[in-house]
Amino acid sequence: MVPENVIREIEASVGQEQVLTAAEDRWTYAFDATEEAHLPDLVVFPGSAAEVAAIVRLANEHRFPVVPRGAGTGRSGGSVPIQGGVVLVLTRLNRILEINTQDLVAVVEPGVILGRFKAAVEEQGLYYPPDPASAEFCTMGGNVAECAGGAVAVQYGVTRDYVLGLEVVLPTGEIIEAGTRTMKGVVGYDLTRLFLGSEGTLGVITRITLRLVAKPPARQTLAAAFGTLTAAAGAVSRILASGLAPTALEFMDQVTLKCVREMLPFKVPPQAAALLLIAVDGHPRDVEERAGAMARFCEEQGAKPVLRAKTAAEAEELWQARKVVSPALKKIKPQKVSEDVVVPLGAIPDLIAALEELSQRRGLVIPCYGHAGDGNIHVNVLYDRGRPGEVEAVEPTVEEIFVLVRGLKGTLSGEHGIGLTKAPYLGMELAPAAIALQKRLKQAFDPNNIMNPGKIFPPGEKAKDPRV
Ligand SMILES: Cc1cc2nc3c(=O)[nH]c(=O)nc-3n(C[C@H](O)[C@H](O)[C@H](O)COP(=O)(O)OP(=O)(O)OC[C@H]3O[C@@H](n4cnc5c(N)ncnc54)[C@H](O)[C@@H]3O)c2cc1C
Repeated sequence: MVPENVIREIEASVGQEQVLTAAEDRWTYAFDATEEAHLPDLVVFPGSAAEVAAIVRLANEHRFPVVPRGAGTGRSGGSVPIQGGVVLVLTRLNRILEINTQDLVAVVEPGVILGRFKAAVEEQGLYYPPDPASAEFCTMGGNVAECAGGAVAVQYGVTRDYVLGLEVVLPTGEIIEAGTRTMKGVVGYDLTRLFLGSEGTLGVITRITLRLVAKPPARQTLAAAFGTLTAAAGAVSRILASGLAPTALEFMDQVTLKCVREMLPFKVPPQAAALLLIAVDGHPRDVEERAGAMARFCEEQGAKPVLRAKTAAEAEELWQARKVVSPALKKIKPQKVSEDVVVPLGAIPDLIAALEELSQRRGLVIPCYGHAGDGNIHVNVLYDRGRPGEVEAVEPTVEEIFVLVRGLKGTLSGEHGIGLTKAPYLGMELAPAAIALQKRLKQAFDPNNIMNPGKIFPPGEKAKDPRV
């Protein structure tokens, strides 16, 4: 609990209008994009790094949790205040401080919405590649804290590859600068990278320095429908092995396709078992050649039809359909658990086949879609709380998916992080000595465990024994 006199101190520091105390207001900040929820004691909207530091110092003194939050679109429960305390919403820190076209560097505050930043960069003739499907509503701070990815990671990499430096309020209240605004820098340990994907457990990010790249002069988008998943997987393997370097190589299975079919700018045969969406960036002639070769590979694998978006608007419609896949799955069942496992590229067909078998055996719908180009497959377990037996079947099914992925030498999460939902499974991937080292790091940053407690390492946690 946050004591009453401390609430008054916080109000004095940030302004009473920036503090929510009524339960109905606090509920709005109790959950993220998972099925998890927990009511915070207080919700605060700080307006500067100094205000963040003042709240963190109070939290240390009075030992209450502080949970950083951007837009609350996280998919692993990271911003859910599972132990109560203060939810620190960073959306007032929403200035784009600099876009420097000579240095190819930008500086932003953490509450800037990614889509707004990408558009501002493109207006200057440059490009900031990371593009999670949530781009129009997630924040830059959340992107750094989760190391967000997206469709174009195949060519351009993920958020980690663009963050040069950070300003961070440490859990002890000091404000530090990590990294540089130069393209290279090896002075001391790479703290910047440590904060990337740290899920709000090591500090509050209050400023971000980013690397920009040149805007690609041309892009083509292709869509190819396949009669079987095996044929689609075959086309993926051929394209990746060909050296044609796709920018994005996304896949949707039959169930997923059904949910977004009417959004597509062309007709996909009802019997299609999979759709590939392919983007190719580069100089116009080069793009033309590479896209043509990829279309041929798809046709040779039996794809029908294979279509090229004729206009930017048509391409946008295709990508828009891909972006709404996740919420669209709720047309089938009201609840879902979304996992974002990654397997080695060659193991994608084995994963898909095993998931089909699992779905039939467990009697649950398990649609898959995602980033086939880097092996990051979004596996969704759909269920209905109202149907007997379905809720109980979810947890063992998720556990089986993780056992399967580890057996294929994959990883539990490519983008969404461990947070709350995957914490019980940490030991399936990390050895006890590695978990112990990570806990010592957390302790060094946050001796009183006030910063987003209960995430990544569950309290009193007994990590499951590695199965594979
Ligand atoms: C429809 C949909 C599609 C999505 N698609 C993708 C996708 O394609 N790729 C992908 O990678 N993700 C995707 N996501 C997940 C999510 O959007 C990203 O993880 C995003 O980066 C979260 O940003 P946010 O502002 O919502 O963060 P939040 O959910 O508010 O927070 C996420 C984590 O970051 C921490 N945090 C937030 N701000 C700060 C800060 N300033 N300092 C320190 N810690 C902080 C929080 O404590 C929490 O642990 C998707 C989500 C949805 C709902």
